[in-house]
Amino acid sequence: MRYTVIGAGAMGLRYGILLQEHTDAHVDFIDAWAPHIDKIREQGGVYVSRDHENRQLIPINLYTPEEYDGDPDVWIIFMKQMQLEDMLGRCAHLFKDHQVAFSAMNGWGHFEKIAQYFSEDRIYGGTALVATVLNGPGDVDFIGKSGAGTMHMCAMTNKVTDIEKAIFEDFKQANLNPEISDDFKGMCMAKIVFNSVVNTLCTMYQITMGQFISYPGARDMAMQLINEAYDACERAGIKLINTRAEELESVDYVSRTGNPLHYPSMYQDMSRGRKTEVDYINGYIAKIGREHDYVCRTHEFLTHGVHLAELAFQYH
Ligand code: NAD
Repeated sequence: MRYTVIGAGAMGLRYGILLQEHTDAHVDFIDAWAPHIDKIREQGGVYVSRDHENRQLIPINLYTPEEYDGDPDVWIIFMKQMQLEDMLGRCAHLFKDHQVAFSAMNGWGHFEKIAQYFSEDRIYGGTALVATVLNGPGDVDFIGKSGAGTMHMCAMTNKVTDIEKAIFEDFKQANLNPEISDDFKGMCMAKIVFNSVVNTLCTMYQITMGQFISYPGARDMAMQLINEAYDACERAGIKLINTRAEELESVDYVSRTGNPLHYPSMYQDMSRGRKTEVDYINGYIAKIGREHDYVCRTHEFLTHGVHLAELAFQYH
């Protein structure tokens, strides 16, 4: 199978390099961040650490959208929400009818943009519960021991296809621990609600996931956000793949045991002066509420809270 990763950032590198190392797949990468591309070319690859250790130089095939002329079976898309429209526009000349697109980006907004280039039956979504940090240009850290993290994947049509089974097998070999779901929206929303708690609160208060969950009121705060999100989803007719109680346990487990030392990617963006994806996470939950006669007061407030934190960070 041939994969081309659009967005050789933290997650794109993790998926692409693990596929390149553990499967027969051919993997190419496309990126547009010039300092990153220049560094990778200058050093002859990407420096990859595994849980902060064993830093090794891994060669990769990296192109800008304008240089690339490959024809993969599967596009793996891992941009930040705000960058995606522009990047897809730059890659548009490469998209063909026989190809499929897979993306496990956080939040909601990417599938509408991807659907401008791929029919619904050729779009596969995912949710990745794993932590990866781009330390800087040409340098990435796959947090967690080998095989850390889990992911769900699902066709946008909810139907399991042969190509999905083939991607699943490759992801499995690559130690990404995939599970196939049969409910696209319910799967995506469960991750959005998770992120609306952990990413958002850790970012606003500039703390790790472990520090957040060690606060005695953390579960109450999480439950309030979960309840509000589930109330909005119920009004919109969206059933999540987790119950409210399971969602709370997932927040607790991943923060306390999974990645206690990790600052979520939203914090990493803010701390580097980049915009966060909050509008696509808490902002999206609030939008679902607004569209269904329900005000998600806490999610509305936290969307502002993160934007205010982005601003406050600039003053420090
Ligand atoms: P990333 O920021 O590392 O990379 C995304 C793109 O941004 C890449 O093209 C990269 O080259 C570029 N980029 C990185 N730093 C930049 C800078 N300073 N200026 C300009 N461009 C820059 O993003 P990611 O962490 O790989 O996230 C991709 C998607 O996956 C997001 O939706 C994210 O929420 C989601 N996600 C991330 C993680 C994680 O642990 N990193 C886990 C699960 C899901």
